[in-house]
Amino acid sequence: MSRPTSTNPETLALHGGSHRAETTTGAVAVPIYQTTSYQFQDTAHAARLFGLQEMGNIYTRIMNPTCDALETRLAAMEGGAAALALGSGQAASAFSVMNLCEAGDNVVSSTDLYGGTWNLFANTLKQFGVETRFVDPADPENFRRATDARTRCYYAETLPNPKLQVFPIGEVATIGRELGVPLIMDNTAAPVMCRPFDHGAAVVMYSTTKWIGGHGTAIGGAVIDGGNFDWAKWGDRFPTLNKPDPSYHGAVWTEATKPMGPVAYIVRMRTCLLRDMGAPLAPFNAFLAIQGLETLPLRMERHNANATRVAGWLAGREGVTKVIHPSLMQGEAKRRADAYLKGGYGSLMGFELAGGAEAGARFIDALKLFYHVANIGDARSLAIHPATTTHSQLSLEDQALSGVTPGYVRLSIGIEHIDDILADLEQALAAASSPARAKAAE
Ligand code: PLP
Repeated sequence: MSRPTSTNPETLALHGGSHRAETTTGAVAVPIYQTTSYQFQDTAHAARLFGLQEMGNIYTRIMNPTCDALETRLAAMEGGAAALALGSGQAASAFSVMNLCEAGDNVVSSTDLYGGTWNLFANTLKQFGVETRFVDPADPENFRRATDARTRCYYAETLPNPKLQVFPIGEVATIGRELGVPLIMDNTAAPVMCRPFDHGAAVVMYSTTKWIGGHGTAIGGAVIDGGNFDWAKWGDRFPTLNKPDPSYHGAVWTEATKPMGPVAYIVRMRTCLLRDMGAPLAPFNAFLAIQGLETLPLRMERHNANATRVAGWLAGREGVTKVIHPSLMQGEAKRRADAYLKGGYGSLMGFELAGGAEAGARFIDALKLFYHVANIGDARSLAIHPATTTHSQLSLEDQALSGVTPGYVRLSIGIEHIDDILADLEQALAAASSPARAKAAE
């Protein structure tokens, strides 16, 4: 039977990638291949697989058919060449950079980063001799200024929280392409809304734990190779891809992968990093990510619509001094949001309570519908008060530098009915402004 062809995300989320019906049973849903290993047909077949003359399954640390269905579907949705599923978003960001860097090399990264990525770059990669140069993305030229002969990649998030100022993807990708430096985008908070490859990024990574999985059930990550960066042209800059690899019989990845298409980067990540460091996505978690992915475009519509309603509603409330959401921004920040986000402005937002840390804590404690969790991107609405949780170990000064003030509350707006979301916020805001009313409500 022929396969449907489409470039629309709603269709690709259900039909994109390698899986159609399972060939033995006809099963329509992607089966969970809960196996560690795969029977070789004979010794010659095994030798061909290990020699990369034929692609096929060897061992689930390195590949698995359920993961393959997720990988090929994600690559189709992003407009990329191929993808690699990993055990977490953290593994995806670590591998995306480690695949290009050796000791003595550097990464130029946006300052606006998830805290886990910041730690990875500022501390852990540093331990292995890889330096990260953090630059302010307000001026894209900061990336050029920080680049030298040992710069291996640029790194940024499309919609970083808490500032929620959209990254200038096209501007920085263009600088990188002039200098031979690929841009890696963490697109976790803007799936479907933004396709960074359309703006010149070379690599996209996701924490699938968030909107893609969408139901708060499984940790996971993925790296997608755009297949649009000429690694061989900039030979000296990418020794991991252009020089003989002693761990694989001297293979030069840009040469060895030519028959497979422009996939040197992602094949090297699978055959070397995943083989050696081991952070595979479990088949069951790949299945859960696929379940989420299939309805992601539809859920994003509701996430976006609800969030824009909430942002506008909060902006007019007494006791709320500031609301941070791209829909309410002006000037260059709004221009970037409109240039890079389609179909809405994302479901993350922040707001500031006039009553400071105490009001923030009272607000959180009064919520009935919203869950109080350290997560984002769930179908359910979520809230957290960073000053008393995620950022409580930082000094007030460092909290302020990262965009967190004492009365700051972060929301991840879910897909419930908007009236129920607003009603919960209304009663929690009332409790925040009046300690006595909060007590009476208990
Ligand atoms: N990138 C972003 C933007 C995130 O928000 C997170 C987690 O919160 C990660 C990466 C790391 O993902 P994971 O928790 O799946 O390891």
